[in-house]
Amino acid sequence: MTTPADLTAARALLAAASRVLLITHVNPDGDAIGSLLGFGLALRAAGKAVVMACADPVPDLFRYLPSAGEITAKPAGAFDCVVVLDVSEFARMGALGAALDRQPDLVFDHHVTNPGFGALNIIEVAAASTAELVAELLPDLGLALSQPVAECLLTGLVTDTLGFRTSGTTIKTLGIAQQLMAAGAKLNTIYDLALFKRSYSAVRLWAQGLARLHLKHGIAWALLPLEARKASGFQGIGDADLINVVASIREAEVAIVFVEQADGKVKISWRCGPGLNVAAIAIEFGGGGHAPAAGAEVAGTLEEVEKRVLAVTRARLKANGVPAET
Ligand code: 5GP
Ligand code: MN
Repeated sequence: MTTPADLTAARALLAAASRVLLITHVNPDGDAIGSLLGFGLALRAAGKAVVMACADPVPDLFRYLPSAGEITAKPAGAFDCVVVLDVSEFARMGALGAALDRQPDLVFDHHVTNPGFGALNIIEVAAASTAELVAELLPDLGLALSQPVAECLLTGLVTDTLGFRTSGTTIKTLGIAQQLMAAGAKLNTIYDLALFKRSYSAVRLWAQGLARLHLKHGIAWALLPLEARKASGFQGIGDADLINVVASIREAEVAIVFVEQADGKVKISWRCGPGLNVAAIAIEFGGGGHAPAAGAEVAGTLEEVEKRVLAVTRARLKANGVPAET
């Protein structure tokens, strides 16, 4: 829970800063990029020198956002304040975290698994997205909601709620979306650009994954070996949100996508409906996230990791009373 004292401290910290470094998580999604840019542009409008950073490149589909081209993997110079957004644990900053010579000053996040790794932590698990949290707090922090800021924040809000349909979407979420629209963000355009429209190669990646799709014991899972990624022509690093397609399977209690990485690791995404908690499974594999959506990166071959993860997920479903024949 954020206290008024936390907000006063955050406001004072930002007011005193002149060069601010903002960092979001590796393999960035719409909330990562949207909250990074939204907060960064709001700070800049308040007269701060701001550098926005991510260890991985901005996915093509978020390039429409103002200043997306400015996001850098190599922030240069000295900073008197480091703010971290949508990052569930220190390690999720990747190389940027490893290069930091100090504890982050301020963390804004909404992940239940966040240990609070900043000097000051504003973590609201009830927020459907970090962008929602940032939008809500702008007035408390003395920052203005301009049209470009609203466009970035609505992108984070729309993508993390999958278009206002996740269990975390609340009346408050919709109220904040309304404020962002009132500030000039275009919902239908953002929905199309960030969530609905895909590149041909991204859909070809889905085709590769869907050709390796399985359903057993209430678990639907798809595999993306390196050769499948190559065959699709998809240049991005993630699964192009294939997980959302797998999660649409009615017969599945849990959906999983396994993405083989070039470094000998496998990136795993889990999704589930209400009543289950895949973050608890992800934690067992060194990852984290939210009860309905979590991820981890595990060393091993695709086959080994698939076997281990399916066994643990199945055991968890059994413990939750989901029968094996579903
Ligand atoms: P995704 O499956 O889309 O990569 O991630 C789902 C959720 O889990 C996101 O909120 C993401 O931040 C979190 N997440 C994904 N991978 C990891 C990980 O390796 N460690 C932690 N702590 N969280 C993760
Ligand atoms: Mn998020």
